[in-house]
Amino acid sequence: MADERIAAVAVTFVDTAGITRAKGVPLAAFEHAAAWGVGATPVFDAFGADDSIAAAPVANPTGDLRLLPDLDRVVALAAQPGWAWAPADRWTQEGEPHPGCARLLAARIVDRLAEAGCTARAALEVEWVVYRDGGKDPVPAATGPAYGMTRLVELSDYGVDLLRALEAEGVAVRQFHPEYTPSQFELSVAPESPVAAADTAVLVRTTIRGVAARHGLAVSFAPAVTDPGVGNGGHLHLSLLRDGRNVFAGGDGRFGLTTEAEAFAAGILRRLPALLAVGAPSVASYLRLLPSRWAGAFACWGRENREAALRLVTGSHGEEASAANVEVKCIDQAANPYLLVGAVLAAGLAGLAEGGSLPEPVHADPAGLSDDERARLGVRRLPTDLAAAVAAFEAEPALTEAFGPGLTETLLAVRRAEADAHGGRTAAEIIAATRWRW
Ligand code: GLU
Ligand code: MG
Repeated sequence: MADERIAAVAVTFVDTAGITRAKGVPLAAFEHAAAWGVGATPVFDAFGADDSIAAAPVANPTGDLRLLPDLDRVVALAAQPGWAWAPADRWTQEGEPHPGCARLLAARIVDRLAEAGCTARAALEVEWVVYRDGGKDPVPAATGPAYGMTRLVELSDYGVDLLRALEAEGVAVRQFHPEYTPSQFELSVAPESPVAAADTAVLVRTTIRGVAARHGLAVSFAPAVTDPGVGNGGHLHLSLLRDGRNVFAGGDGRFGLTTEAEAFAAGILRRLPALLAVGAPSVASYLRLLPSRWAGAFACWGRENREAALRLVTGSHGEEASAANVEVKCIDQAANPYLLVGAVLAAGLAGLAEGGSLPEPVHADPAGLSDDERARLGVRRLPTDLAAAVAAFEAEPALTEAFGPGLTETLLAVRRAEADAHGGRTAAEIIAATRWRW
């Protein structure tokens, strides 16, 4: 039997390209690390998903940052006996918050929300494909039908070990189910405060990978895994509370929305093209973000519309006050979850300041509507490539201001380098290059 005593803590942060980077600290050194941080170069901010380094000012080999583990979130990793995990904030050696720290950015936007008298609850869905091995032409581990019980039988021990591991880690799993694509699964968790939700996304994916490794399996969270095919989304559920009351329920508007919920959602809806530079940050993201694949390829909203980029979830009659939320569907797990919650909340905050309202809801697959009907409803196709999303981000003051000049410049450089690196590649080549990265 493995020695279960903690030997080391994996201290992690997520970089601009959405890769979780880690430093292991032996238990004996952890007290020092907790007080003074663990050294890490700021160059990580310029890393691409393929480990190339973009030409950004931050890609300077001098200087150091301190990774400060969040001691409130240290968890023993159930699938990696002997290891614990802690998400870190990044500070400078002078004791200033690092302007490129995604986790601190998310916390800053949450503070701004508090200044506006609101709190948010968030949850990130996780989708992944399980393979027999992690090779070049991997074989799906489950062969049963989409959403089929067969898959839960085929991977019965894997599934139950995963749920037990997450329970031991204190993750409140709501549901685990077989998804559409061959050998694809999805797991959803209960909502939390936004930074905690992003932490949970990192922990859940680490655990999914760890349990798979113990079963001799490999997993992919990449946006696109087959061409053509349905990919892995990373949908974000958000609700907004004022005075502890969910503004997405109990209002006089459509489906019980309050004017405040409408303004918040409208702020997100109109900024979706720009938000894609954060939430669909890979060239591979655009192989996933296609019409009629439940990926939300059109900028519109609708109650329980799985083809709308913004899906209003009301919950069942009677539970609306706790259940109602808005789901951003057009995003995937190549996204840095901290940048993602920060950016989406910043868009919502801008919406609150604008006081706008939502257009007509859409109750059909927008791909099936005529051009005239889409124009009448104001439904637009979201950017179809990374370059268009990056241009939209650059032109969106609510996001560039929230990110600040340094992080904005780094993000643009990393995304452009990524677009260049994949330029001229076929879909199959992009999938092969990105399948195992996140
Ligand atoms: N796999 C789909 C996506 O790429 C989502 C399926 C669902 O609605 O859960 O977003
Ligand atoms: Mg799903």
